[in-house]
Amino acid sequence: MKTTFSKQMVLSIVLIVLIGTSLQAQYPRFKVLAFYNKQVESAHVDFANDAIKFFKDLTIGNGFVFDLTTNMDDMNDEKVKGYQLVMMLNDFPNSPAQKQAFQKYMKNGGGWMGFHVAAYNDRSTKWPWFVDFLGGGVFYRNNWPPLPAKLVIDDTNHPITIGLPNTYIAPANEWYQWKPSPRERKNVKVLASLSTDNYPLGLKDILPDGDTPVIWTNTDYRMIYLNMGHGGEIFKDATQNKLIIAALRWVIATDKKGNVFER
Ligand code: ZN
Repeated sequence: MKTTFSKQMVLSIVLIVLIGTSLQAQYPRFKVLAFYNKQVESAHVDFANDAIKFFKDLTIGNGFVFDLTTNMDDMNDEKVKGYQLVMMLNDFPNSPAQKQAFQKYMKNGGGWMGFHVAAYNDRSTKWPWFVDFLGGGVFYRNNWPPLPAKLVIDDTNHPITIGLPNTYIAPANEWYQWKPSPRERKNVKVLASLSTDNYPLGLKDILPDGDTPVIWTNTDYRMIYLNMGHGGEIFKDATQNKLIIAALRWVIATDKKGNVFER
């Protein structure tokens, strides 16, 4: 009797170890590395802090790894190779080495999710690949102060926007307009834009008219850009939060090595 009990115990322990190992192999499903900078415009730091809390909360149950760094030198081959997505909360690669590593990561099928200033570029940027990656648009103008705005969902059948209303009021943000509009590129898919109902938008700085894409992807890459990212209001709207989660999920799901959500 005593021997049988021990055997059962051994069997139980073996089973527990086996189950534990298989769970460990399945989870977490993917890894995200988020870059942010604490030394930038305070409203961009506020957004990064809110975003960090938002995404950390989504890792509940060990669904994915959400690692953080404030060191842009972590944009190097060795560091980013294990991540299915790099997220730029309020910064972008600066040095030639960081830029090279980012280009290589993206060309090799890496994932990118960028917010707000992460796409900022102007005449002084001198990084043609990056402008092309973003759909050819150069920063043109913005509204000031930050304001809520009515957004139009350009395609309600895309995995990122499916189930959303045709329009919603997005929380206060500093909205950027680009010249030329990324929509003019054949390889750019625009998913949301500022409604023309908003114009003129702003007091000090005004968006008077024009085409203002807010969320888009360059279909040559596994990337999504969202113009939201200024101040502490961004995560206060349930519709927008749903959209942000769907955007992250879509970039992860389109990994050429397979869809982790279907394993
Ligand atoms: Zn801003």
